[in-house]
Amino acid sequence: MKLLVAVKRVIDYNVKVRVKADETGVETANVKMSMNPFDEIAVEEAVRLLEDGTATEVVAVSLGVQQCQETIRTALAMGADRGIHVKTDEELQPLAVAKLLAKIVEKETPDIVILGKQAIDDDSNQTGQMLAGLLGWSQGTFASKVYLADGKANVTREVDGGLETLAINLPAIVTTDLRLNEPRYASLPNIMKAKKKEITEITPDELGVDVAPRLTTLKVTEPPKREGGIKVETVSDLIDKLKNEAGVI
Ligand code: AMP
Repeated sequence: MKLLVAVKRVIDYNVKVRVKADETGVETANVKMSMNPFDEIAVEEAVRLLEDGTATEVVAVSLGVQQCQETIRTALAMGADRGIHVKTDEELQPLAVAKLLAKIVEKETPDIVILGKQAIDDDSNQTGQMLAGLLGWSQGTFASKVYLADGKANVTREVDGGLETLAINLPAIVTTDLRLNEPRYASLPNIMKAKKKEITEITPDELGVDVAPRLTTLKVTEPPKREGGIKVETVSDLIDKLKNEAGVI
């Protein structure tokens, strides 16, 4: 069984994101970048399936600028076998990523593609679903448990008020939720080994995909600053303020 894992390079989750002065986006110059946390969970899941003998190969794919190769190297150091870098300096929106991944899937014919449920930079939560739509494949999104048996993937999903378990046919798309696993740190020897693993480079043109953005960002702004709180003397003061000032009751 072959697994493809999509790994996105995003602003590290510990960084306090700053909006650009001209409100066209957020500052990315000199900002620490890392693998999207949900994609670390996707790599971990794939590598565990490799280690228990369920999978035979794990391929990590990243799409974007040259430095995406660092993200692929991280996946290789965690245990993926090889990488594919779809190289472009263009802005990639989820539809373009899904179309590019669909082309890679045609070439690589994996049994399962594992993606994060969302990238923490755009919070789109679209790519996996669009990829499943383009390929006509089953999808198990927001997976908190994946169990493969009898040619199916049993995917437990966190839904409002509980858990839902689906049995989906392969080939399939799985997107990871936070509780699926705890990703490992790559060990130094594995980081060294990863340097020798193969990364193939390809461009959107070579894949025949038009990546022109379909959405325009009008502006990006900071959330309003929080105003200081006040103390009230009595419960009736509180109720009065909630009713007449905040208008919430
Ligand atoms: P999104 O739909 O943008 O929230 O992203 C969902 C998931 O799609 C991410 O967690 C990644 O697994 C994958 N993905 C999105 N964009 C990229 C990219 N540029 N390179 C690799 N994977 C991506």
